[in-house]
Amino acid sequence: MQHDQAQHRPTDLDEIPKIVESLHAHFNTNKTKPIEWRREQLNKLYSFIIDQESLLAEALYKDLRKDASSIMADIMIVSREAAHTIEHLEEWTAPQASHKTLFTMFDNNQTLTEPLGVVCIIGAWNYPIQLVLGPMVAALAAGNCILLKPSEISTHCEALLAEWVPRIFDTDAVKIVTGGISCSTVLLQQKFDHIFYTGNGNVGRIIMQAAAKNLTPITLELGGKCPTYVDDAVNVDVVAKRLVWAKLLNAGQTCLAPDYVLVHKAVMPQLLAAVKKAISELYGLDTKNTAHYGRIINKNHTQRLAAVLERQLALSHSNVITGGEYDIDSHYVAPLVVAQVRETDPLMEDEIFGPLLPILEVENEDEAIRIINKRDHPLCLYINSDDKAVVRKIVGSTRSGTVSINDYLVNMIVSDLPFGGVGASGMGKYHGKSGILTFSNQRAMVWRKSDMLSEKIHELVYPPFGLKPLPF
Ligand code: NAD
Repeated sequence: MQHDQAQHRPTDLDEIPKIVESLHAHFNTNKTKPIEWRREQLNKLYSFIIDQESLLAEALYKDLRKDASSIMADIMIVSREAAHTIEHLEEWTAPQASHKTLFTMFDNNQTLTEPLGVVCIIGAWNYPIQLVLGPMVAALAAGNCILLKPSEISTHCEALLAEWVPRIFDTDAVKIVTGGISCSTVLLQQKFDHIFYTGNGNVGRIIMQAAAKNLTPITLELGGKCPTYVDDAVNVDVVAKRLVWAKLLNAGQTCLAPDYVLVHKAVMPQLLAAVKKAISELYGLDTKNTAHYGRIINKNHTQRLAAVLERQLALSHSNVITGGEYDIDSHYVAPLVVAQVRETDPLMEDEIFGPLLPILEVENEDEAIRIINKRDHPLCLYINSDDKAVVRKIVGSTRSGTVSINDYLVNMIVSDLPFGGVGASGMGKYHGKSGILTFSNQRAMVWRKSDMLSEKIHELVYPPFGLKPLPF
């Protein structure tokens, strides 16, 4: 595998305040507010994804050796989201009339969905296209000016976006800056009307602190350990195949990837055999030379995974079902499945974000609930069971950003479902209408006349009060 670095010059830090200032000035011209402008920009975004699919796929392959399905997950989600948003643009942004009462019967009171102003979108490297252009769909649809900051770690995608964003969009309203932490640090010193950040929780805290200085609203799309429960009332072979697919997509570097598995003791032997079989069926026995098995983004992350793997395998109770090999130089980590993992083991410490799958045995769903609830609320909770009572009990006794029953990742592609975390896995939602609401000000407007008829109604609230009926 080639790890050639894309040729690209980071944004001059002195330019950043001027760029942000120009966006604020442009927002004040009101040119981004008409529905026609928003639709035009969304159409351009849609066409870019469709027309430049092979260019995008090439950059994703160079950064992460992504296979066809993780390329789909990166770019087709954006084009679907854009198409769905274009279809509902008027409906989702139209003023909503409020209910009338005796006191407001002659009014035209409405909730207006208005753009916030200048929004900053900071993306992460694991889905480097989707995590920048996905939120951008909603920000454009809401009529904002936008500053994009892709991850500097996925260098090829960063360079591609830096080249194409100015070619596609209205350059007065949409700008892109590139660079590492110094770029983000200068960015966060500027005043925005919203910051939308995707990445890890430690940087999420930095974003929140910086935003607090200007009381800037934020959306944090963070990660964490997504648990999976496998019940005894389920088709174990089907569960195993879906689990392996979701875990190994993008070599485990997916925020929604199942992080650890809690298995009902009655189906443990079956599940372990089925997981091993599913890996060889989907990826073959030699994942290093399988074209559609991805790589870890860089050497640092490969070393991080190798270190946690070594610490786990040094424990005598670790029962390796498959895997354990890695190659730091080529960023390769084989799918590793370890059974008999304990709650305090290395693989249960932090979000794994790689192709390592710890499996823990539980007595039943009650023990699973206890383990899940001891940890931070995850981005997604996966429940594998055909027993509705078990599913309802787990859903009713836990908290997570999303919950998915008998499948994985699908929650990301259903455009009408709000996407985002809760607690340590994030705050705020996007996708579909929820994205437009995130990037909008729900502005309440009371509009009444000054004629004598409406004044008759208004007199109900003037003193002296006496025995006047309450108008509300
Ligand atoms: P990353 O290193 O690319 O960082 C994300 C962004 O933060 C980058 O643009 C980077 O420049 C910026 N950044 C890094 N350090 C900074 C600092 N000190 N100050 C200001 N900005 C800084 O990505 P990452 O954090 O490694 O991403 C992986 C994490 O993101 C995982 O935890 C994953 O679960 C999570 N994630 C969440 C979602 C979601 O939708 N909830 C999606 C993808 C990834």
